[in-house]
Order: sequence, then structure tokens, then C-alpha cells
Amino acid sequence: MKHEVLYSVAGIATQILVSDENFLVLLDIGDGILRDIVERVKTFPFRRPIHIFITHGHYDHCGGLYSFLGFLRMLGHKHPVCVYSPEGGDEVQAILKSFLSVQKSSLSYPLEDIRLSPGDKVKISAQVEIESYQMQHRGSIIRVGALLPIPSLGYAIYYNKEKWVAYTGDTGYHRNTELLVDNASFAYIEATNEKGESNSYHLTLDEAHKLGRLAKNYRLIHKRYESRLLEHLY
Ligand SMILES: [Zn+2]
Ligand SMILES: [Zn+2]
Repeated sequence: MKHEVLYSVAGIATQILVSDENFLVLLDIGDGILRDIVERVKTFPFRRPIHIFITHGHYDHCGGLYSFLGFLRMLGHKHPVCVYSPEGGDEVQAILKSFLSVQKSSLSYPLEDIRLSPGDKVKISAQVEIESYQMQHRGSIIRVGALLPIPSLGYAIYYNKEKWVAYTGDTGYHRNTELLVDNASFAYIEATNEKGESNSYHLTLDEAHKLGRLAKNYRLIHKRYESRLLEHLY
């Protein structure tokens, strides 16, 4: 089994590929997913069931879903495609509804919309099970500030009941983030707030490293594109 960050920048996109010969898992599916695939076109593990686990509905985590589903249709993909997202979020369902409203009659593969609550477990092969953990997150708007909290989940992938890969998605530091990452063979941890003050909806560099040390190995991802540069855009 392999895992690899295809791309990860906060506010732009994040997608992580986890696969073996029986399945393909994407942890989040931001914009640019097709660019990431064609850059790996000779090795990308298609022709197997696909499981897309989305941590929350922000565009940088699910913005590539529509084009990915269309791409699979164009390829004539025939294996099941399951899209998992937090119960209570609206964005992923809006994308699926929009896609199915125009493509359903010519779809070559079964497409499932599965909503998860914290603590749910999904078995995707004889050895592999994925568990969801409640995270703590909210969006923000430059010059406006933080918005209301939204449903958000972290995911742990277990291989033969061993915690193999953990992924936080976007979250502030709290007890559940420790439980998610604890003793994982490898953890992908967001560090969006790397240069900022501690807050309840993103991790600072110190918090991300503190979490990472609970795992056997880790990598900080989803770091912020220099937001002062983004202010030039608007
Ligand atoms: Zn994000
Ligand atoms: Zn977010």
C-alpha cells in the first residue's frame, strides 16, 4: 500500500492518494486533481473501486469532485465510486446533485453518496477500515474574520487493525485531534496557521508538530499560501 500527497496548499487545494491493488482512496479532492493525475498518468491506480473521503465542504477540499467524476465517466470507469462526507454539510451533496442531474443517464459506474458521523467506520477491503473523527473547523474571509463552525471530520485508515495513515483535514487543536493521530504509522497534519496565533479552527506550527510527535512519522501539509499576496487580488 502506498500514500502520497498529490497537492496541498491551504485555500487552494489538498488531495492525498492512498492505494493498493484492490482500491484507490482519495483523502479530499481539491481543484487540480486532474492535473495531478495526468502528471502521473502511467502509474495512477485506476481500474478498481474508488473511495473519496472528504473532510469538510470548503472548496479547497472538494472543488475537484465534479471534474473527477466527469473524467471517470469519460474513461468509461466501471467500478463503484463512493463519496463520503460529514453529515450536515451541504456542499458535497450540491456537487453530486448537480453532476447527477446532467450525467446520470450516461454514467458507466455506480456512484454512492455516503454521509458520515464521528466514530463511523467503513470497511473498504478485507484488511482496510477507515474511521472518522470529529474535528473542529470554521471558514474565514479576509478582512471579515471567522465564520460559523461547520461539520468536519478527520480520517484514520487502519490496515489489519493497525492505524496506518491519519489525516486531520482542517482543524483547531483539541483532544480528538490527539486521538486521531495517536500511534499512527504516518500522520498528515494541517499547519495552515503556521505563522499565526493559536485559534480554534486551524493548527499553528507548534500545535501541528506537537500532534505529529504522537505519531510514528508525520508530515505537515496544507500550509497557507502567503495570504498577504492574496490581498493583492482583491
Ligand atoms: Zn482548507
Ligand atoms: Zn477548511
